[in-house]
Amino acid sequence: MLTCKELTEVITDYLEGRMSFGQRLRFRMHLALCRSCRRYLRQMRLTIQALRRTLSELPAERMPAEMRDELCARLRSLRPRESD
Ligand SMILES: [Zn+2]
Repeated sequence: MLTCKELTEVITDYLEGRMSFGQRLRFRMHLALCRSCRRYLRQMRLTIQALRRTLSELPAERMPAEMRDELCARLRSLRPRESD
């Protein structure tokens, strides 16, 4: 069983489809039982959608590498809010 912390560490792998079947299963089992991680996943998806929209308006070659790195770092720094 994944912990919440482990889940947040692999969430980008999940969203990008980089997980094995077994990993994905464990991820989903945790989500089924954990409300705050479900909320975190939803928040993450919305953030990524918003970022993609922004990025799609910029030609990729014009995006400085530091900017891409910063966006990635910002995504990774998101953490689920404590539910109760
Ligand atoms: Zn959790």
